[in-house]
Amino acid sequence: MIDLHTHSTASDGTEAPAVVVEQAVRAGLTTVGLTDHDTTLGWGEAADAARRLGIALVPGIEVSCSRRGRSVHLLAYLPDPAHADLCDELERARTSRDTRLERMVELMAADGIPVTLDEVLAQVVEGATAGRPHIADALLASGVVDDRDEAFDRWLGNEGPYYVGHYAPDPVHAVRVVRSAGGVAVVAHAHSVTRGRVLPDDLLAEMAEAGMAGIEARHRDHTPESVRHLTDLARGLGLFTTGSSDYHGAGKRNRLGENTTEPEVLERIEDLATGTEVVRP
Ligand code: AMP
Ligand code: FE
Ligand code: FE
Ligand code: ZN
Repeated sequence: MIDLHTHSTASDGTEAPAVVVEQAVRAGLTTVGLTDHDTTLGWGEAADAARRLGIALVPGIEVSCSRRGRSVHLLAYLPDPAHADLCDELERARTSRDTRLERMVELMAADGIPVTLDEVLAQVVEGATAGRPHIADALLASGVVDDRDEAFDRWLGNEGPYYVGHYAPDPVHAVRVVRSAGGVAVVAHAHSVTRGRVLPDDLLAEMAEAGMAGIEARHRDHTPESVRHLTDLARGLGLFTTGSSDYHGAGKRNRLGENTTEPEVLERIEDLATGTEVVRP
């Protein structure tokens, strides 16, 4: 059982990388991908845990991208974590995320929502990628909301009054950077309605043209029609499809292994990648 999309405290998951790996073993996975937003910070700890616990680890990143205000998430599997252009892009996104979090908290506090920047930063592990879920966690810690969803519904959503964007590369540029770092690019949850509008076919085709290798078709945010549509689109473009949980620990309902990827697809990912290797026990 292979699940190639999870998050740890290196970004907005609620469990440390080693705990995500432990949970993956407990869920019966044979391979887990760690794909924190805009960082490789969790790779080392996850790799140690994977070797210790006898599970394969696919190191990855979920790269935040943006095209005309529309958010696009690009999974990068097995890239070289020291590749200069890739590091520059990730660094730039993380720095901009910090500034944007500060701005969102300012706007919220000015409207009387009881939250401070210190409370939010207390939710972020040092060096981790900060995101809106950490504002939600601060509100949760002080009893203002009962879960992250409530904070997103009331205040943090993309269409909400406190939303502030951050720097993110264009998805086609990001595909090229991931490839030049030896990674394999797969678009995440392209039809997730929780992010507003779905990604149009022509954008996915443009990304494929730039060297994207796959589409994450089976994801909890996708309707059966979307899964069919993306599967057909992938076939037409010569891309593979994956299925993943997008696990965030207690931060989301998503459970490890709720969607999975075929072993043949993992083989293809490994064949295409030149940046780093799957960690095997
Ligand atoms: P950001 O990266 O700061 O733009 O925040 C987006 C992240 O928030 C996504 O990657 C999800 O992990 C998380 N998220 C989005 N919507 C929700 C929600 N309704 N409940 C919990 N987490 C959410
Ligand atoms: Fe997330
Ligand atoms: Fe995502
Ligand atoms: Zn994700």
